Amino acid sequence: MENKPAVQPSGRFKLKYRGADCLNCGHPLELSDKYCPNCSQANSTKKLTLFDFFEEFLANYFSYDSKLWKTLTALLLRPGKITREYINGKRLSYTNPFRFLLSLSIIYFLIISFNSKFESYNKFGYENKKPIIDIDLNKEFQKIEFENEEEKQFALSQLDSLDINSYIKNGISKKDSTILADPKSYFKDINTEDLTRRFLGKIDFFNTIIKHDTIYYFEQGLTKFEIPENKENEMAFNLATSLVDIEKRPGTFINSLISKLPFTTFFFLPFFSFFIWMVYIRKKYTYTDHLIFSFHNQSLLFILLIVSNLINAVFNISSEGLFILIFAIYLYKAMRNFYQQGRVKTVIKYFFLNTLFVILGSIAITILIAASVFTY
Ligand SMILES: [Zn+2]
Repeated sequence: MENKPAVQPSGRFKLKYRGADCLNCGHPLELSDKYCPNCSQANSTKKLTLFDFFEEFLANYFSYDSKLWKTLTALLLRPGKITREYINGKRLSYTNPFRFLLSLSIIYFLIISFNSKFESYNKFGYENKKPIIDIDLNKEFQKIEFENEEEKQFALSQLDSLDINSYIKNGISKKDSTILADPKSYFKDINTEDLTRRFLGKIDFFNTIIKHDTIYYFEQGLTKFEIPENKENEMAFNLATSLVDIEKRPGTFINSLISKLPFTTFFFLPFFSFFIWMVYIRKKYTYTDHLIFSFHNQSLLFILLIVSNLINAVFNISSEGLFILIFAIYLYKAMRNFYQQGRVKTVIKYFFLNTLFVILGSIAITILIAASVFTY
């Protein structure tokens, strides 16, 4: 008896293209098999045309019954339910939560990199600041009456050696000019302080030197200012270099910081999930279940932020606040549906976890900023 399907298949699924063995895994096939039961490759011996090739690629992402489409609709329309279904075993229908979050964070990263509105903050960098006082000291100097020519020449040479005019023009502070007047002995002085004040003093010192002198790398400073070569001095120098760069172009630094944020979530969420686990310790969920729940919610946050960014770009508005509000409501619904607890319990846990999230998030961002300054 011939095993024929009811609906006539078309394209590369036509019966004349059906094979006896799977081309991918070698599993024996029936004529009725549209896909290999072992590896789910299409049962077709037809050579791929360019059209087939693109269709296969697009079908994976955009067809109505694709995983991506199902994941998106379930995530957007049924908060919390997608996680419950996923951990209860309905896994092949949805995109893997980790891969989904990773893809979204990459898209979000690309969007905020292209949308780098913080570059304009570079105008607040110190190189663009106007000098506070604008007077010509030499002109003022001529007005002063001296006892004799000798005294006048001496005062003039003192003035020249300090190069005060250029200090004023460049908006140099009094402290900076003290450093610049005699850098060698200034550095020797800070070296006698206790560790914290010494280190901060050195950063300050290098900061001034880098800004107003032509020092590009550490070794150069060693010889020029007779600075002993050690780890502490080098660290202070490197930190000062970063700080000068950040001061010059603060917008660029904020951009590099923000572009790191999507990826820090991968360190942060596994850590935060421990706390969700503790808050819901009496539920039968495992740590992984809570982690998947936080991955799903974070994915939705990225989707909302991506949409918000696109809306902002098109309509030239700031819609972040609205989308954060939508996320806040969504998160409550998701917790209710996933953990299936009453309103009061859910509200208490919602506020507790969110407060904890803000505290831990602030600590994480502080660490990120510190690390960014050191590696900038
Ligand atoms: Zn196969």
